[in-house]
Amino acid sequence: MNHIPFNRPYMTGLEIQYMKKSLESYATAGNGSFTKKCQSFFEEKLRAKKVLVTTSCTDALEMCAMLCQLQEGDEVIIPSYTFVSTALAFVRCGAKIVFADSSELTPCVDSEKIESLISLRTKVIVVVHYAGIACDMDRIMSIAFKHNILVVEDAAQAVDSYYKGVPLGAIGHFSAFSFHETKNVQCGEGGLLVINDERFCKRAEIIWEKGTNRAEFFRGEIDKYGWKDLGSSFLPADYVAAFLLAQIEQIEKIQAQRKAIWNKYYNALKDVVQIKVPFIPDYATNNGHMFYILCPSCDVRTKLIIFLKQQGIQTAFHYLSLHKSPYIQEHQKDCFLKEMPLADYYTENLLRLPLYFEMTPEEVDTVISKIKVFFNNQKL
Ligand SMILES: *Cc1c(COP(=O)(O)O)cnc(C)c1O
Repeated sequence: MNHIPFNRPYMTGLEIQYMKKSLESYATAGNGSFTKKCQSFFEEKLRAKKVLVTTSCTDALEMCAMLCQLQEGDEVIIPSYTFVSTALAFVRCGAKIVFADSSELTPCVDSEKIESLISLRTKVIVVVHYAGIACDMDRIMSIAFKHNILVVEDAAQAVDSYYKGVPLGAIGHFSAFSFHETKNVQCGEGGLLVINDERFCKRAEIIWEKGTNRAEFFRGEIDKYGWKDLGSSFLPADYVAAFLLAQIEQIEKIQAQRKAIWNKYYNALKDVVQIKVPFIPDYATNNGHMFYILCPSCDVRTKLIIFLKQQGIQTAFHYLSLHKSPYIQEHQKDCFLKEMPLADYYTENLLRLPLYFEMTPEEVDTVISKIKVFFNNQKL
């Protein structure tokens, strides 16, 4: 029987060549020539003030939290339906998390509900472009502007996706991308911090370089470097950036293929009455990161997962509402008691289907037909 995995990281073939070049140069530490090439690519694509390659998106988010200069008790609004890292970075700075529920139409945050969560202590709003689908950024930015709040985009899944034609990651004060092996463009583990507000550029670079102004020193702007601020070692070895560059250079090919798979799923499954397919608002685009379906219940989803597994097809549900996590239950009981019906709905009903660059049209057809078989039998 065929096995169709949920994900299979794609290698363009050039990774090994570029990594070899990096090793042969004997300049393997961070902030080398491959790192600079990756950064230039994204600086241009996003028209960002500054872009830094990091060891992960989690680390880029930690840098965002440090740049926000939060005090104990400051509040950060974060969606409940997201990955742990989105919240973790801010919790580590002593912030109090205020959870926001998802929208009815997409798992992204419901922008209409954000304003009611703002207090005098709110310092940051973090949005997550789930499945690469844009949050309603005009609305979020205007709320943030009105209350003098910083906006961080968790754009981990949002490479090459757009809001009203503007690339995601280019709108908030900061944004963070992921190049984890499960993302469209990957290097195993890796990430990117994007700074869209000039005021934070210098400090970002210092935080990235262990709290020192070494980057300035290497550019010849100063004659010695030292300890200036908080920071950590957030920069990957240059051969990791070499791997990443090989992927970035093929981004158009990768995206075209992923979107074709996504569209095939969408067109074949949109008429299956028992499930819902992703909704892409007019202001958003699909970047082929993920294809999910919404099952009629958690019980049906479990049965479908088991059925597909028996057919050799691996699927995956996704996040568990963070406001109900054991960590929040222990440390922020007031959040734990809040009701987030839509975050819970996506927790229980959302199922992700296999989607990877090398997935063949026949494999996509197999997944589609097995899902149809399952729901035809369910009706009986
Ligand atoms: C993948 C992901 C992360 C974490 O990315 P890493 O690079 O693994 O740290 C954070 N947030 C979201 C929404 C993600 O999908």
